[in-house]
Amino acid sequence: MKPDKKTELLANWQTLQRIFIRPENEESGAALVRYMEQILFGLHDFLKQHVGITREASLKDLSDRFTDSRISQNPSKKLADVIKSIIEDIAPHAVNVSSPYFIGHMTSAIPFFMVHLQTIMGALNQNPVKLETSKVVSVSERQALAKIHRLIYGFDDAFYDEHIQKPESTLGGFTDDGTLANITALWTARNVLFKPKNGFDGVESQGMAAAYQAYDIRRTVILVSQLGHYSLRKAGGILGIGHDNVLSIDVDSQNRINISKLEAAIREIQKDNQTKILAIVGIAGATETGTVDPLPQIADICAEHSIHFHADAAWGGPTLMSEKYRHLLSGIERADSVTIDGHKQFYMPMSCGMVYFKDPVIMDAIAYHAAYINRPGSVDLGIRSLEGSRAATSLILSGALEIMGRGGYALLIDHGIEIAKAFAEEIRKRHLFELTTPPELNILTYRIFPENMKNEWKTADHHQKLEINDYLNHVNITVQRLQREAGKSFVSRTTLRRRGCEDIVVLRSVLMNPMTDIRILQEILDEQEKIYQQQFGV
Ligand SMILES: *Cc1c(COP(=O)(O)O)cnc(C)c1O
Repeated sequence: MKPDKKTELLANWQTLQRIFIRPENEESGAALVRYMEQILFGLHDFLKQHVGITREASLKDLSDRFTDSRISQNPSKKLADVIKSIIEDIAPHAVNVSSPYFIGHMTSAIPFFMVHLQTIMGALNQNPVKLETSKVVSVSERQALAKIHRLIYGFDDAFYDEHIQKPESTLGGFTDDGTLANITALWTARNVLFKPKNGFDGVESQGMAAAYQAYDIRRTVILVSQLGHYSLRKAGGILGIGHDNVLSIDVDSQNRINISKLEAAIREIQKDNQTKILAIVGIAGATETGTVDPLPQIADICAEHSIHFHADAAWGGPTLMSEKYRHLLSGIERADSVTIDGHKQFYMPMSCGMVYFKDPVIMDAIAYHAAYINRPGSVDLGIRSLEGSRAATSLILSGALEIMGRGGYALLIDHGIEIAKAFAEEIRKRHLFELTTPPELNILTYRIFPENMKNEWKTADHHQKLEINDYLNHVNITVQRLQREAGKSFVSRTTLRRRGCEDIVVLRSVLMNPMTDIRILQEILDEQEKIYQQQFGV
């Protein structure tokens, strides 16, 4: 958009000062309030009425609009125009993740109060890296951490009374996202495993080569099921373990880590006394299938061999809020560390990760003291944190926990799990589909598998099965793409890999939007049936 000729905008000291102080008159104050109204109400109404999920436009056309690499010397727009162009030009081509027809990813609608809390966070602009830039916000962050810690571990009052505000204790930490939470957990586990000993100052100071020499080994591994999130592989890379050493263990028919294969892998590794196991990761809500590993059994194995047990509950963690379904995560209270994402099932805006530790002093293994910023014994949260400066997202979580209560979150969790079950039933009823992974939490996968091919499959030999499978993969890729391009609803697609079997392409849905009901899900299946008939019907 070209700036208006009449109101040539100039970068000058006077106007600059105005943007740092409160609007001087009622009129401009009212304008700022109006913009907030536009963001809160106008944006979503507009998307709902005119866009669906996203407006049809090729990525090429869109990229052609963003080719200007110069920063203009003078201001080119006023705030009102910036907001207007975001609402009119960006939002329709972004993805309307709050649509109840958007059931493909872990990003979804958020309650409107999150926008208020996010705005307050921005307005206060606290930096919890140290007390001097956050003060009470650091203290209240510790309270938020204790609340979720208690939800996971359920220690008694005495424990929380002692540790909640004790500067030497750290029940966990906020991170930018789940990836960094997983990295923080494994970083801590690595530093504990290769702690200082005679003649060795610890891996954090001397590095992996020295650690291996001091401990007389050649390799470290992390074990996780084949459904482990790729952030664990990044952790392997970053921590100097090497991501090839993040070993993936097969899953059973329910998509949970195969315990006997896990035990076999451990036995095999332990034959070689030059290899150490850094951690075993149990997934509580796998990204692709929503399934939960047998956490109690993993806990037993880790206890038996003194291995760090990390639970990746980035997705599933908030299930603990539901009295009805929290048993699905039982065993998580035995994990040494736990990852939970705020921007997933706590319905917070992007982004907020968290990591929790059972032992309140284990994070000392990653403590850093920079003279100018935080001194030993201080309450500065930046001492035990991968990030330096960061947003005070704990303010959002604290507010949300108060506004929602356990009961409010439980309603969301219960709805997700129950609507996923109902959706699975609907898929089972329709001849065109096959349910590939039934939901344990609120994620399921399925695929198009026409009745006549199901019959052919029964008598097919190996070669014919390969052919059928290739064809089905093609069908599912096509239908998913055409539905996405039509822009009314969105289901994602992934590939399930089974050792010894063909990779199968499946449609994946994540049911977390409370406005998604069975009627909408039926419409989504109807649309897929229609696309299938148009493209592949005879
Ligand atoms: C989403 C997710 C992560 C990573 O979280 P980000 O916030 O996307 O970095 C890790 N593990 C699991 C199981 C997840 O679902």
